[in-house]
Formats: sequence, structure tokens, C-alpha cells
Amino acid sequence: MWYIAYMSYTVRVRVGGLVQGIGYRPFVHRIAVKYGVQGYVRNMGDVGVEIVAQGDRDSVERFVRALKDEKPWLCKYSFFKVEVLEDSRVYRGFEIVKSSFKGSGKGVSYIPPDITVCDECLREMNDPADRHYQYAFTCCAQCGPRFTVISDVPYDRERTSMYEFPMCDECRREFYDIKDRRYNAQTICCPKCGPHLWLTDGTETIASDVDALKLAARLLDEGYILAIKGIGGCHLTCKTTCDDTVARLRHRRKKPQKPFAVMSPSIEAVLTYANPSESEIKLLKSFRRPIVVVKKKEPFPLSQHVSPGLDSIGVMLPYSGIHHLLLKWCSDPAYVMTSGNMPGLPMAISNTEILKTLYGVADYFLLHNREIVNRCDDSVVKIVGGETAFIRRSRGYVPEPIILDESFADIEAIAVGPLEASTCAVMSSGRVYLSQHIGDVNTLQGLEFLEYSLRHLMKIFKVQKPSVIASDLHPGFPSTSLAQKLAEEMGIALVRVQHHHAHMSALMAESRLSRNSIMVCITADGYGYGPSGEAWGGEVLLGGFSEYRRVGALHEYPLPGGDTATRRYGWIVAGLLHGELEEETLRKFLLEKCIGGFKHGIVEINAVLRILAAGNYIRTSSCGRFLDASACMLGVACKRTYRGEGAIKFEAAASNGDPERVKFKLDYRNDNGILKLDTKSLFIQVLDALKENIPRRHIAAAVHKALGQGLAYIASYTALEEGISTVGFSGGVAYNRLIVEYVRREIEKEGFKILLHKQVPPGDGGLSLGQLATACMKYME
Ligand SMILES: [Zn+2]
Ligand SMILES: [Zn+2]
Ligand SMILES: [Zn+2]
Repeated sequence: MWYIAYMSYTVRVRVGGLVQGIGYRPFVHRIAVKYGVQGYVRNMGDVGVEIVAQGDRDSVERFVRALKDEKPWLCKYSFFKVEVLEDSRVYRGFEIVKSSFKGSGKGVSYIPPDITVCDECLREMNDPADRHYQYAFTCCAQCGPRFTVISDVPYDRERTSMYEFPMCDECRREFYDIKDRRYNAQTICCPKCGPHLWLTDGTETIASDVDALKLAARLLDEGYILAIKGIGGCHLTCKTTCDDTVARLRHRRKKPQKPFAVMSPSIEAVLTYANPSESEIKLLKSFRRPIVVVKKKEPFPLSQHVSPGLDSIGVMLPYSGIHHLLLKWCSDPAYVMTSGNMPGLPMAISNTEILKTLYGVADYFLLHNREIVNRCDDSVVKIVGGETAFIRRSRGYVPEPIILDESFADIEAIAVGPLEASTCAVMSSGRVYLSQHIGDVNTLQGLEFLEYSLRHLMKIFKVQKPSVIASDLHPGFPSTSLAQKLAEEMGIALVRVQHHHAHMSALMAESRLSRNSIMVCITADGYGYGPSGEAWGGEVLLGGFSEYRRVGALHEYPLPGGDTATRRYGWIVAGLLHGELEEETLRKFLLEKCIGGFKHGIVEINAVLRILAAGNYIRTSSCGRFLDASACMLGVACKRTYRGEGAIKFEAAASNGDPERVKFKLDYRNDNGILKLDTKSLFIQVLDALKENIPRRHIAAAVHKALGQGLAYIASYTALEEGISTVGFSGGVAYNRLIVEYVRREIEKEGFKILLHKQVPPGDGGLSLGQLATACMKYME
């Protein structure tokens, strides 16, 4: 009797978050033994992990505390629920029991993102006595590739690209030993049984394994360009301290201006050329290892060709054994690591493809024989307004779900995203799984990648028969056609969602707002197809998931040439000044100040002026185009050679400016009940400031302030009228630190709460989430 009484304290702990595929259950087992409790632990699929612990009360409580205090380094709880079980059976020992999907909505497996090499594995890689010494594919239960190697579920070795590498006896022993840190780790391997590296010049193998790494390091330092196959794709790499080398890579890549990301061996090395803040350092060191956009040091000791015209640089730390070992033998503080793709196409991932597409671009190729199942670009983040803004949410984050409000729990849906910087998404049991970065889908390869990724997500998350598919409203997007095709194939409803409404919906969804919520949202970007085909891009919307009303905007201005103007900013300047200046004055101004924004000089200027005079143009409310035009007028950027170039350089130009040195007067117009900020009057004032020879950094700062204040004024005016307390900010312009700061100040000054993105990109990479949320709500009505 005394025995039962003594053992009578039993608790059930349910945990969710990043708790699977990271050696969590062996950890629980270990601390159960340590604190002397009985019971079990088991995976519950997508609803987390269940633990039952029994023992004397003191031990059980210490065990529960240890679940938090001693948890594995990358374990992250999204919930942690403890309940005392009154009436329980008596357990003997502590077991890891078979996975159970009972009680879970769908029985979906949890699939972890790719995880950087852990310290313990790194130590082994540097220990001459260890059998993993200098082995680039070393990993354990807590680290290594996951999403990029998984071809199907459940997550077992035979459904990963490690299938081709059967474990040797020693690896097998570790795999089955519960006390070993490689217990049940699906992707472990060693030099004896795992993948191998080699270095080639494209025709023959020059070196293998460690020798290949050492030689690759030497070639990099000698100024050669290398293609390096890694975890989710392939990088083009070169040293950063030599102008000629970086310029050569730019020339071969046909990317004259696009900033290159770099990789440094350590934070100490980063600090020699950049000034990351404490929170940026934390992000750099996190197990997800994203590229973090940080401030450059002035004077900048690396080649100016690395990120020309910008005050920032994208930096990352090594995340695979290949990078760690390679950089160990290199001597520069940083190396360019840019995606190995040709413009507009997805990154090459197979050895044949890498050799084919990058032949002539790279001098040497460092390859390996493990297949990349899922292409996955590096994630890119920037701290904006104190929040982590995703420029690209990909490796290290995908496929972790975004959890929505419970009103979304009962529907399954899929979404295809927009046209550029795209992602797709699937939803099941109130969780949205966003794909990795797909990029542009206006090429055949891009569209194929989109369809493959969508079908792959449907397979691994068991979304077999969704009720609805969502796309953009634009009838001409290839993604819209794909959605149509899939809707017919599956016999399901297609809902086309307006671009800016989807931005707002994405923000509402990730903020876990409930189905009847209403908010005011600033959605500012480059372009989105309006409900009647208008070219929207600087909008203030009022509404919820299923309906919205346009309550404010930047006043529409002429955009002669449409798409051409997005590439040659002189055209936008002409549009904004058309009608404000005499034609001759305008011609003279464009010729003298904005000639770089036209490809064919005066002939092209004359053509644009003729188009404007004939009234043969569309009008746009685009905030992105306004920033491009401002950049052109100030001589900061004249043409687009990469997405967002004008706006990004314009932000950089404003970074040390004092907006108070220029006073802009903001004019608003009521256009049929829609409050609009007068863009032409603002632009004329920019021109006037320029004539007064005010330093351009001050003018640039003042334009940022004017746009931020203008949009925020319209939003808070509406919020006040409608009695709404929260104002959101979404769209690509929400990457702009200055505009976000001015919007925030204005909104908070008026007593409202501002909502920014935290989990998905504010830009078009987050759009598939909004498409899903809106389509579901419309479908359920
Ligand atoms: Zn490890
Ligand atoms: Zn082995
Ligand atoms: Zn957009």
C-alpha cells in the first residue's frame, strides 16, 4: 500500500513547437532517468509531444522544471501544458513509445527545418582522434539538413536522400543506442558510409574530400570563382578583398549592381567590416543561420563591388560542415556566397545542372554526391521597426507552420502566390505551411518549381483534397493559370484574391486575428492588380479577411510605358512631372538631370513626352515607383538591374539625412470618398528642394518622412472615423526602415496600435498566406 501512495503523483505534459526531429524524446528519456521518474514520451504528429511522468512529487516537479531548464539548444516551445492525472496506472521504467497520431487533427508528421551544425559535431570535426574528423557531412539528432533531404513522410532515413548511404556498423550502433547523441538520428553518417566531396574544373576531378576542401580554399584565396554545392542549393563564391575578383563575378553573372551576400567564419570576422546590433548578432548565430542585412562599417574594408551604392550588407555565418571546413582554410574575413542561378531562374541543385548552367561562370566546382530533394535558398532577414522582417523566408524556417486563429481549423486549402519573389502555401488544421522561396514564376522553370513545391507540400502535409485554391486576381499571371488548371484537375473552387487585400489578410492571419476582425491597413508596394485592372501600389484598406474597402491611397500619377517605366526610372519622373512643368522645361530637366533613366537618350525622352501628350498611359498609385522616381531625380539610381533597386538605394541615400532640413507640405484630396495624398505636389516640392541645393541625403530623408506621415495620416484618420484601434502596415515598402519608423511614430502618436509582420515576409513572399486566409473565409461564407 505504501508503495502506491508514494508513487501516486502523476502528470501529463503536452508540448508543441520545435520539439520533434531534434532529439527531443531521447532528451526527455535522459532527464527522466536523471530525476528518477517513470512514464513515457511519444510524438503526437502535428500536435506536438506527450509526456507522462510519475514518481514522488518532488522528483516529478524537478523533472518538469528540467524539461524547460535543460532543454536541447534548439528546442522552442510554442505551448507547455501540465495537468495532474488523478487516477493513473502505475508505470515501470520510462519508455519512448511508438508515435501516435490519435487526438491530432490530421495525423500530419512534424517536419523540422534545416539546422546548422551543432557545437558538439563541430568539436568532433576538429578532433583528429574522432572518426568524424574533417568530415563535412557530420550531423546528429540535433543538427543537420532536414527539409531539404526529405522526400516523403514519415521522416525516416529511407524517405530521405540519405537512403543511398546505408549506415556502417559504427553509425548503426550510435543510431540504436538511446544514450548516444545520435540515437534515432535519421541523417547521420561518417567518412566510411556517408556522402563525399570532390573538386572539378568541369572536365575532370582534381581532388577529393579533405583535399578538395583545402584546394578549394586555396583557389578562393588566389582569386578564382567557385561553385559550391551545399545544403539546399549551390553558391557562387569568391573572395571579397579584391575588386577585380568581385567585378569578374559580377560580369560573368550579368548582375552589375545586385548586392551579394557574404559568409564569414565568425562574428569576430563580421565585426571587422560591419556593425551588427546585438539582436542582429543573435539572429546571425541562431540555428537557422539566415542572411542578416546589417550596417556596413565606414570606411568599408571589403570591395565596394560587394554591395554597391548601399550602406548595408547581407551577412551569414557557416551553416554546413562544408562551409565550416572550407572557411577554416581560407584567409579573407568574408566570402561572397550568392545563389548559383542565372537571372530569373531557380537555383541549380543537381551536379549535372550545376555544371551545365554555371560552366564559364565558375572556374571550379566543389560538388558532392548527396541529392538535394528540396531546393531551398538562404533566408534573408532585416530588422525593421524592432521586428525581424523576412525578405525571404526559406532555409532554416521552412516548413515550420504559421498557426492561425481557430476559426480556420476546419478547412483545407492551397494557394499559388503572385508573380515575383513568390511562395505557395497549403493549409490544414489551422496551420499554414509556406513553401520555401520560389522566386519569379514568369519562366517555365520557375512555374515548374512552383507546381513541384506545391504538390510536395500537399504530399508531406497530407492535404489530398483541399476545398479551395487561391490565386492572385491578375488574369495574366502564370500562377493564376496554374491555379485554374489545378482547380479543374481537383474539381475544387478557385478564389482569386486582390493583391493588396492578400497583403492585409496575411498580416491579419499571422497575427492570429479571428474571422470577424476588422482593421485598417497600409499596403504599399510596387504593383498589384486592382479590382478593375488598376495599377495599385500605395493603398490604405479597411476591412477583414473576406471583404475590404479602399479608403485611401497615393494619388494616381501617369506611368508612361508601364513595364518599361519599372526598369527605367526616368519614365516615372516624366510621368510625375507631366503637366506640372512646361513641356520644354520638362524636356530640359530630364535631359540634364535624369538622362541615366533613359536607355536611348533624347530620342527616348521625346518618345516618352509624346506618349504623355497623347494621354496614352496608365495611371498608378504605386509607392515603390514613387521611390524609384525620387531615387532617379536625386541621382541615386536610374535603372532597375535588380528588384527594388531604386527604393533600396534611396533608403540608403537617406540614412544620414535630417528630414527637418526640408519642409514638405502634404496635400490631400478627397476623391469620391477616398482620401488621397497628392503625389505630384510632393514630387514638385522634391524638385524645388533640389534646385535650392539642399544636400540630397536630407531631401531623401524628407521624402521618406512625407510618405510615412502621409500614409499614416490617412490610416489613422480612417481608424478614428471607424472606431478601430489597430493599424497594420504590409507590402514591400514595409522593408523600408525609415518609412516604417515614420508610420509607427505617427500611428502611435494618434493613440493607435501598429501591427507589423513577424512571421512571413511583408513583401510578396508572404502573399500566399493572405490568399489562403481570404479564400477560406470567402469559401466558408
Ligand atoms: Zn550535431
Ligand atoms: Zn558511418
Ligand atoms: Zn505586393
